[in-house]
Amino acid sequence: LEAVLRDLASVSLATRLRIEEGTQVPRSIIEFYYKNDALNDPMVSEEHITAFGWATPQEIDDIMALAIRVNDFLSGLFLGVGIRLVDFKMECGRLWEGEMMRIVVADEISPDSCRWWDIKSNDKLDKDRFRRDMGGLVEAYTEVARRLGIIGENERATHAGPKLVQ
Ligand code: UDP
Repeated sequence: LEAVLRDLASVSLATRLRIEEGTQVPRSIIEFYYKNDALNDPMVSEEHITAFGWATPQEIDDIMALAIRVNDFLSGLFLGVGIRLVDFKMECGRLWEGEMMRIVVADEISPDSCRWWDIKSNDKLDKDRFRRDMGGLVEAYTEVARRLGIIGENERATHAGPKLVQ
């Protein structure tokens, strides 16, 4: 399952409900998608999820609570550097500690799985630059890394790839 949290309407929500792209939704909306490339990741409801046994009602509640916490944390962090968090995708896993199980964030949160718009210009600083063939992908990712202080003002992004943290 993929959980998507949206604070602003982007393409699918705007098209499906005929609201303008970029409109703020009344409150954060969480949607679930069945992760299956052959089926084009269809949206599913809590009914589908529980009926097919992919997650229990309690696990769905935990995923939603986690998505809201992640959103609170990330939207604040990004507002501080002049970026609006439009939406993001999150995948969860079950972490067992003895008999106890916790739902945890199980994948990366990165410009590939979030929508980030510059607050002033609304410029896209995320994977949509690639998806919509807009160019300037590396520049946008570098700009985000710079604003977050991950790389220095005059430093260039390296393409060394991620390092394993033990
Ligand atoms: N997303 C993702 N992987 C996917 C599908 C979506 O990381 O397989 C992210 C995407 O980057 C965006 C959010 O989930 O931040 C919502 O994307 P979606 O394609 O559902 O939005 P749409 O453009 O259809 O409104």
